[in-house]
Amino acid sequence: MTFKGGVHPADSKKLSSHCAIKPVPVPKQLSIMLSQHIGAICTPLVNKKDAVTAGQLIANADAFVSAPLHSPVNGIVKDIALCSHPVLGRAQAIIIESSAENQPKQPYPARFDSTFDIAPFSAEQIFNAVRNAGIVGMGGAGFPTSVKIKANPQAPIKDIIINACECEPYITCDYRMMIEWTYQILAGAALIGKTLNCGNIYIGIECNKPDAIEIFEKAIKAAPFAVGMKIAPLHTKYPQGGERQLIKAVLNKNVPTGGVPPMIGVLVSNVATAAAIAEAVAMNSPLTHRAVTVSGHGIKNPGNFYAPIGMAVGELIELAGGLKDNAVKVILGGPMMGFAVADLSTPLTKTSGAVTVFTENDIVKRKETACIRCGRCIAGCPININPTKIAHAVKNNMLDIAQQYYLSACIECGCCTYICPADIELTGYIKTGKILVARQKKLMPK
Ligand code: SF4
Ligand code: SF4
Repeated sequence: MTFKGGVHPADSKKLSSHCAIKPVPVPKQLSIMLSQHIGAICTPLVNKKDAVTAGQLIANADAFVSAPLHSPVNGIVKDIALCSHPVLGRAQAIIIESSAENQPKQPYPARFDSTFDIAPFSAEQIFNAVRNAGIVGMGGAGFPTSVKIKANPQAPIKDIIINACECEPYITCDYRMMIEWTYQILAGAALIGKTLNCGNIYIGIECNKPDAIEIFEKAIKAAPFAVGMKIAPLHTKYPQGGERQLIKAVLNKNVPTGGVPPMIGVLVSNVATAAAIAEAVAMNSPLTHRAVTVSGHGIKNPGNFYAPIGMAVGELIELAGGLKDNAVKVILGGPMMGFAVADLSTPLTKTSGAVTVFTENDIVKRKETACIRCGRCIAGCPININPTKIAHAVKNNMLDIAQQYYLSACIECGCCTYICPADIELTGYIKTGKILVARQKKLMPK
């Protein structure tokens, strides 16, 4: 079973798939973006020159759809100011200068084993721990997880899928988590199941990770709390890890266009999010760090790191040996869905799973030519919309027409751009169209 459309880009995962996740030294400065998830932007709870401690709540929002922010280190608030933001250009951040001494031991997971017990935690405790820890979808979506795991008797969740696909080229931090922190991911999955009173839990893994499949199978057999969880081996195809594509592949169910998975009784959670849930519930740890892959042919020593939220992209690149002389482009994220970064002081957010660096040889010099109406972008689109018509409407500033063609339904997977023989930056036009619509609706600052 698989989904319609999609593409098969070279995965280039061998550059970093053998690299264990390494903790990083405490950076001198962190910039914690106030806007780093879907929903209400957080308001700072600290002021310039305040001392903060690792794990301290530093920003929050009253809205239900939001997630609080915590300091990853002991330090002093240097400023609350505009910083380079990976998506918004520039946005407000709490800038923390870390103390030279007295930092807590670097948090590093892998403390879970087959004996973990979910019995002591009630559904309410799990929800509160996830909410208080500021957990959001760490696979890129950034939707506050507490909202997703809040049980709704009117629309019960019948199936939970743990997204272990990691289909984006170059990125391997989820894969490393799967083989290094297996029980923690399963513990998170079990805790989600408990909050939603749902025992149908699938781990969706692409078949290009046979060792991860084997490790999960063994762990599920060994851990009483994981009894009944099932592995769903999936075709290796991009974007297999998209929520809709994953649901189609695992359950053969379709999420209606414009709808969300809970409408059909399904919840999808990425492996990193599941791991963060286990940490929050069992250890009372807020989300302050995450696993990040730093890779690409433009990086001297690709690797996987456990880095604090707010660390500058440039510092992570230095930890990976620095840029090669022929490096020309830095992307926050992977090549299909990431954002080019012009300013290396841009900080990691909770959804930043990778820094990818390209050389001249990796960059296809694209010169847009006229659409030849080949239809490949439509055939490759995994959600069955018409990328060329939407892009044409955005180019001509006809945003109402673009919306009629389901602009907002686009998952920004990049398949249409990848497949277009006329080198039209279809996804770029669509992303621009979404930003213009959000600004029109005053949902995003100009
Ligand atoms: S239109 Fe959107 S969802 Fe469809 S292929 Fe292009 S980027 Fe992906
Ligand atoms: S793939 Fe490119 S050339 Fe073909 S129809 Fe789509 S936009 Fe036109």
